[in-house]
Amino acid sequence: MEILHDKSYNEIKSLVEGYGEKPFRAKQIFSNLHKNVKISEMTDISKSFREKLLKDFVDEPCKIIEAKISRDGTEKYLYRLFDGNVIEGVLMKYKYGYTLCVSTQVGCRMGCAFCASTLGGLVRNLSRGEILCQVLAANGYKSETGERVITNIVLMGSGEPLDNYDEVVGFLRLVSAPEGINISPRNVSLSTCGIVPKMYALAEEGLPVNLTVSLHSPFDHKRREIMPVAKSFSISEIIKACENYFEKTGRRYYFEYSLISGENDTDECAEGLYKLLKGKPCHINLIRLNSVKERNLTGSTNDKAAAFLKKLENYGLSATIRRTMGSDIDGACGQLRRSYLSGGNEN
Ligand code: SAH
Repeated sequence: MEILHDKSYNEIKSLVEGYGEKPFRAKQIFSNLHKNVKISEMTDISKSFREKLLKDFVDEPCKIIEAKISRDGTEKYLYRLFDGNVIEGVLMKYKYGYTLCVSTQVGCRMGCAFCASTLGGLVRNLSRGEILCQVLAANGYKSETGERVITNIVLMGSGEPLDNYDEVVGFLRLVSAPEGINISPRNVSLSTCGIVPKMYALAEEGLPVNLTVSLHSPFDHKRREIMPVAKSFSISEIIKACENYFEKTGRRYYFEYSLISGENDTDECAEGLYKLLKGKPCHINLIRLNSVKERNLTGSTNDKAAAFLKKLENYGLSATIRRTMGSDIDGACGQLRRSYLSGGNEN
């Protein structure tokens, strides 16, 4: 069985021809799929054609099986994939609309010390259509007609997007297709732990997404302690790749910096960030580490985080603290999936 959502509009055109159907059916199918209409429910195409499609393609690749709503309005979804795997996503409401955080892999093999997504390793990559279906299913959850509700996307759920490069780039093209939900790459943020060669490749794709690197320390030796990927790529290589991204796309770049108590929230770290990033067209997103019970690391206090931000601002760096959203509903990466897999969902 294949996933019809993996296919571009042009690919669906050739497919429709292959079935001996009229070419205009392609537009109907593509647009139906992107409105979260299942193949079995596409009443504007004939029953016999639907039946043929259902022999070859999965009807519902990604289904929301649980939704938790936080006191702060954040929603967390648990999705079941067609093969029984589960992934999670977070919907955040901002003044300008809804941002959905999507996963790019089931699990992750990057091994970051503070992250719940990587605890069970990588199970498998998601296909471009499965990444897209998370957005479509969330649209369907928020609106009866499946019309576009989500305006912004962050690739910050489970998985390392640049470790699943081709499918992630395919997803970026699908989600920005004019015949579909047409979300501009400018409204998409891709977060990476810093896989340098793929950062260069992304700069050549003509897809001006917001590139975010999870930095978490200005010092290579410290970074290596919490992020195994830092053994392969140094911070200076990462900065060069970011500068190249800026030259090629004109987009400023971002750094994620999760504040871990006593680890990376010191004066020395603030000064290190200043030395590293002064004068660069970048922005630093600070977030207090969301404590993960399997991990022995705790987030900085609110006061400490505010003081760290102040120091960065005094150095003239552009930085903000992100609100910690949805911590009452297992908001951090991979937490809901883990509690589901360990049976915690039944409590
Ligand atoms: N693999 C990608 C994207 C997924 S993680 C990356 O590394 O960027 C999205 C962000 O959440 C990353 O910055 C990651 O370092 C951070 N993160 C993971 N676990 C966290 C936790 N428990 N608390 C705060 N941030 C966390």
